[in-house]
Amino acid sequence: MIPQVYWTEEYPLGKTYNVSTELPDKVDFVIIGGGYTGLTAARVLAKADSSVAVFDEKKIGWGASSRNGGMATPGLKQDIFKIYKKYGIEYAKEFWKASVDAIDLLENIIQEEKINCDWSRNGHIALACKQSHYDKLPEYANWIQKELGHKKTLVPKEEIHSEIGTNYYFGGLSDEVSGGLQPAKYVDGLAKACNDYGVQLFENNRVHSIKKLGEVYEVVTDIGALKAKKVIIATNGYTDMLVPELKPKVFPVGSYIIVSDVLPEKLQKKLSPKGRMFYDSKWFINYFRLTPDGRMLWGGRNDLSTDLDLVESASILSRQVRTVFPDLEKTTFTHTWTGKLGITFDLMPHIGEVNGIHYTFGYGGHGLSIATYLGTEIGLLLSGQKKRSPFEEISHQTMFFYRKDPWFLPFAAKYYQFLDWIS
Ligand SMILES: Cc1cc2nc3c(=O)[nH]c(=O)nc-3n(C[C@H](O)[C@H](O)[C@H](O)COP(=O)(O)OP(=O)(O)OC[C@H]3O[C@@H](n4cnc5c(N)ncnc54)[C@H](O)[C@@H]3O)c2cc1C
Repeated sequence: MIPQVYWTEEYPLGKTYNVSTELPDKVDFVIIGGGYTGLTAARVLAKADSSVAVFDEKKIGWGASSRNGGMATPGLKQDIFKIYKKYGIEYAKEFWKASVDAIDLLENIIQEEKINCDWSRNGHIALACKQSHYDKLPEYANWIQKELGHKKTLVPKEEIHSEIGTNYYFGGLSDEVSGGLQPAKYVDGLAKACNDYGVQLFENNRVHSIKKLGEVYEVVTDIGALKAKKVIIATNGYTDMLVPELKPKVFPVGSYIIVSDVLPEKLQKKLSPKGRMFYDSKWFINYFRLTPDGRMLWGGRNDLSTDLDLVESASILSRQVRTVFPDLEKTTFTHTWTGKLGITFDLMPHIGEVNGIHYTFGYGGHGLSIATYLGTEIGLLLSGQKKRSPFEEISHQTMFFYRKDPWFLPFAAKYYQFLDWIS
């Protein structure tokens, strides 16, 4: 098995976009982070006639935006019922609608910018790992239908084979709104669209410091300094100490993936008859799907750390996938990789500002659509095309015990294992 992202092996980044090498003296916006957030924000701002420069310390799209499962599903990292309990029904409706609109927005951008990224809306199933998990689903589905007007369909265990080729699960809940794509193709296409609107893209160019100089910011990069009227931080799980006040607001969690050889067509049809996206009901969630070219992609969080050895990760994940799908016992898994999710303490994405510097992050495992949505949203807010966003109105919780190093993750991992055991 090779320690490499399958998506960027199939489609190396940089196929369609051009990078700049000479810094302008001054721009309206500097955006730090060249993933979905940074690029969708840049796209909106450049369309509104602002001058924009995007910087990534690696290749454009190198972060989670080319490493993810490529699954766009409604909802946020925080459960919608808990959102309702905490913020009330009006906010719950607004956040849910945003998560559904985010998938429409993703589709619209793909169509408008003609991004060939294997997008298909095949729906997803949330799978119950225990009978007790399944027993909660009817009430949950009814509540979502009644309060949020969103249809989810119960799939009892007797019918599960119409959705997935295993006896492992106790049933599930299907949702037709979801879709899947090839992440590297999508982020590459976004970068090309940014080029077309005049955005300057700088890659392999780290931003080292941001300093307020009167009315503007001086941004120091690997190849020199430039001035910007406004700065947006779009670094999510890769947020470092560049703006020290931001670090306590988001912490990185590792997510890990393995991908198999191309499966025989008959086996593909058996394992996923409708080409769904899947995730299960555990705290230590597994997510999986067939790739557009017919491989099994299986992902999980392992121990939440960001530095688990990729061979060890592959052995954990391949044991899991073979337990669920005994048909894959002899299948070869070819690629193993990881990337960083950005998680906030309230499990909500946020738009905010510190010292006049703007940011948006904290999408958990929903960033394909939500980063696209919040990147667009921050662009609309900063160009005056939108007046408010619920994501900037809720308070952004921090914890006294976290400033720089997420030392608490091994303890959180143990706690989640315990919850999986007792639930
Ligand atoms: C393994 C994995 C699986 C996932 N699966 C899914 C999924 O199936 N569905 C889903 O919706 N979401 C999924 N996600 C989450 C989703 O990929 C992310 O939420 C989303 O890509 C975040 O996009 P972003 O642009 O905010 O950040 P990123 O794409 O992570 O980009 C941040 C960038 O900032 C750059 N950077 C950091 N500091 C600096 C600096 N000082 N100077 C210059 N550049 C800097 C980094 O190099 C990086 O490229 C997954 C994530 C991972 C890791």
